[in-house]
Amino acid sequence: MTDSPTHRFPDSPMLIQSDNLRDSNRLVHAFSTRQGGVSRAPYATLNLGQSVGDDPEAVQENRWRFFGSFGIQPVQVVRVKQVHGDGVLTVDEALASRRGFPGVLLDEGYAYDALVTNLTDLALVVSTADCLPILVHDPVHRAVAAVHAGWRSTAKRIAARALLAMTAAYGTDPADCRVAIGPGIRGCCYEVGAAVTDAMAGVLPGWGAHAVATRPGHVRLDLAGVNRAVLEGAGVRPDRIADTGLCTACRADVFFSHRAEKPRTGRMMNLILLRAETTGKAPAAPGGMSGKGGDGAPGDQCRAARREG
Ligand SMILES: [Zn+2]
Repeated sequence: MTDSPTHRFPDSPMLIQSDNLRDSNRLVHAFSTRQGGVSRAPYATLNLGQSVGDDPEAVQENRWRFFGSFGIQPVQVVRVKQVHGDGVLTVDEALASRRGFPGVLLDEGYAYDALVTNLTDLALVVSTADCLPILVHDPVHRAVAAVHAGWRSTAKRIAARALLAMTAAYGTDPADCRVAIGPGIRGCCYEVGAAVTDAMAGVLPGWGAHAVATRPGHVRLDLAGVNRAVLEGAGVRPDRIADTGLCTACRADVFFSHRAEKPRTGRMMNLILLRAETTGKAPAAPGGMSGKGGDGAPGDQCRAARREG
């Protein structure tokens, strides 16, 4: 740790926000990019992952920058071990009052791929490098969710499970929720084989509408489209789902992409937090770009921005 997390940096991280979640000054959210940090290649520059081989001090500095952009302290950051499963952790007062919380979650290996809470001033965080981050806000019951949706968890309907957990804990009606799908690998770049298509066939009858055949036994899969269908199937209104449409593999200049840059690359983090205070303006991202609205066409932006080579 090199400095206070709340001071301003001349080289601020570039962040992505969705217009769908920007209308409340009591809600904070962001999808990180790889820009505005201090790590060196292949983790340049805003790598937020400590377990990928990067210099730990650089990662710590990057985390100060990312979370500090919103005045978020380390003790407010709720993260768990992500395992590509279907587990949803409800972060309630009993858990949050545990000694050592929230660090204890990682220390003890809490393994989940979605987090939900209605507690204020806790940042639910999932990390990604191609998998889709999905953020959910229930403005009626004041609750949020952060979901890590790779293909395995998507096949287990992780986004719908997060909504079910919100309903069970807070009485959430999915029709009230606003959802943002963040940067992840898109159909333009995500060719998959039988293991993935077999799994998709089990989760969604119409999954083939989100796939384009490439060569025998392979398709290019629109994982965001599948997740959108899962969300709609769970009761979320289509016009309340906004997809940033950003492809991590197309835009490896902006994002870390496991597939485009393997074997080694960094990790982004994606956060959502309910503010306790109603006074003051919503903190703006220090530099960045907004996601498109719910009617955006995922993939168009990818193709337009595809790098040479
Ligand atoms: Zn792409």
